[in-house]
Amino acid sequence: MARRPLLAGNWKMNGLKASAGELDKIIAGAAKLPAVVDILVCPPFTLVPGFAVRARDTRVAIGGQDCHSRSSGAHTGDISAEMLADAGASAVIVGHSERRSEHRETDAEVRAKAFAARRTRLLAIVCVGETRAERDAGKARDVVGAQLDGSLPSGEPGFVVAYEPVWAIGSGLTPTPGDVGDMHSFIRERLAALYGENAQAIRILYGGSVKAANSKELLGVDNVDGALIGGASLNAAEFLAIAGVYR
Ligand code: PEP
Repeated sequence: MARRPLLAGNWKMNGLKASAGELDKIIAGAAKLPAVVDILVCPPFTLVPGFAVRARDTRVAIGGQDCHSRSSGAHTGDISAEMLADAGASAVIVGHSERRSEHRETDAEVRAKAFAARRTRLLAIVCVGETRAERDAGKARDVVGAQLDGSLPSGEPGFVVAYEPVWAIGSGLTPTPGDVGDMHSFIRERLAALYGENAQAIRILYGGSVKAANSKELLGVDNVDGALIGGASLNAAEFLAIAGVYR
């Protein structure tokens, strides 16, 4: 089945109002690309409303990097999926490994956030991935399988999965294309067990040190339906060069 690829930029805790110029470059460059790939930029919350206005009616969508599972309430410092949608976002990353490790987020919390995204009609990008120690111990599939079972919402599969080996994030290291292919086909099988035929339509992104130089190789692997990109998405030219793989 042909799945439309998605390239999602995760700006993490980077970007000020002045960074709008970089977004403008992404918007201008994306307009010249063949319309065969979805492009998403997830800036910090503070920039979501302004970026959403700039990106309106362009090829670039704007997303959040996290959301609370509840719609409102006494949760100091948190942002709900409803607030993100109200600010103009159309997607949200949930369960990023930095949230799982720095904020001790559990699979159950990630699933609740994915449900919140669905409730608000945001596209959830649900992240999973093993640590180096887990891979070295031969447990990568067990870990990723358990994260999928625990983090994905039941019912309609209107979400995206991002496979991001923790040891590849921001490290400059990547798994071999063979290892990426093995894990993505394992994820596809697990999705089929959970969602039946609907699993074929679910996009599985690869994330972890994707840059222009390695993008052709990584994005060409079977069952890799795009990428979640951190560092390289902060630079419009680099991000657009990755998007240029889809022609
Ligand atoms: C990420 O943060 O999701 C990520 C993949 O980061 P990087 O591309 O910098 O490894």
